[in-house]
Amino acid sequence: MIQRFIAMIFKDVENENETKKVSVILRLNALIMCVYFLCLLGIFLAVGERTPLIMFLMCFSIYGLAFYTTYLNDTKLAVYFSVLFTAIWIFIFIRQFGWDCGIQHFIFVLIVLGFTISYRKLRWKISMSAAACVFRLVLYAYTRQNGSRYTLGNEVSVIYQIVNTIFVFAGITGILAVFTKDSMEMERKLVQYNERLHRLASLDPLTGLLNRRSMREFLEKNIRMYQSGHVESMALAIGDIDFFKKINDTYGHECGDLVLKQLSALFQEHIGSKGTISRWGGEEFLFAFHHMNGDEALMLLNELNRKLKKMEIPYGEHVVKVTMTFGLSEFDFVRGIDYSVNDVDKKLYQGKEAGRDRTIY
Ligand code: GH3
Ligand code: MG
Ligand code: MG
Repeated sequence: MIQRFIAMIFKDVENENETKKVSVILRLNALIMCVYFLCLLGIFLAVGERTPLIMFLMCFSIYGLAFYTTYLNDTKLAVYFSVLFTAIWIFIFIRQFGWDCGIQHFIFVLIVLGFTISYRKLRWKISMSAAACVFRLVLYAYTRQNGSRYTLGNEVSVIYQIVNTIFVFAGITGILAVFTKDSMEMERKLVQYNERLHRLASLDPLTGLLNRRSMREFLEKNIRMYQSGHVESMALAIGDIDFFKKINDTYGHECGDLVLKQLSALFQEHIGSKGTISRWGGEEFLFAFHHMNGDEALMLLNELNRKLKKMEIPYGEHVVKVTMTFGLSEFDFVRGIDYSVNDVDKKLYQGKEAGRDRTIY
């Protein structure tokens, strides 16, 4: 029951152009005000002050109507209805009961309401705040000159003041809570969206490895870290699948893609956090081995090669096996990326010339 009620308050507006947040804020405000007038009704009944009861009942009903307007998929109408009605009843009530009951503080709820209406410009919001300020001053001047129409007993007056204070605070807190929750949700979505964009821009879609551009960025970052003394060594290797074209020609491009994916998974599993792996080109991979000299990287690469040789990739009724040729060097932080990549590339070429399936270091 309570959950259904909460779901009703947070129900989406059906029209895409209408904002959910504003509707929820108006709903909550209308609901708090309904409870407020019910409370007043109860209190005034209890102390035997019967004259204002009709006014309370009417306001209760009109806020019920304001609640309903938020489901009409016309946020503007709902906003104007709530804001206008709030201003009207504040005016009438102050005329009736005077300044001392604290009804004028509901003007602050009105200001907060105005500021949370997202589709309006800031200029509009500030103007509304200024109008509310003038409204309050006018009301004050009016009550100074005319006094109140209805004199409340001292006891009721005190209770009325307390109830007003509580509901003004409840109204402002409710509005700001929904507003803050919504802003936090938006912020979280924005962060997720940015992260997704960044991932899409930096990863190779087929293999999930870094793409060439982000690998260059990674290497550039490492050069900066070397210059600031945070990195001392790194090894670089390039690996190229042997006779890959044959796999495509024999089993089809789809099989070639599968091989690229399976090999990438093996690289990631074997190297893990010890290195950074990228798809440098079609069937070429560039590896950066963190904090390793050439000998250490060679050991890791040889282990990887052993696993690679044992690897069998099932494709339909076939089993595909591949070998790779690697060129390995220590990364030259001083001469830079192009020099170092060129260096491992030359070694890869030597490996291919010498018969493939080997590592040249
Ligand atoms: P080598 O041993 O000399 O490296 O021979 P190779 O056949 O591997 O080299 P070559 O450069 O002749 O062919 C590479 C092939 O890789 C050609 C290209 O169609 C294929 N290739 C590049 N990118 C992809 C891809 O994303 N998917 C598939 N299936 N094939 C790709
Ligand atoms: Mg190849
Ligand atoms: Mg190649």
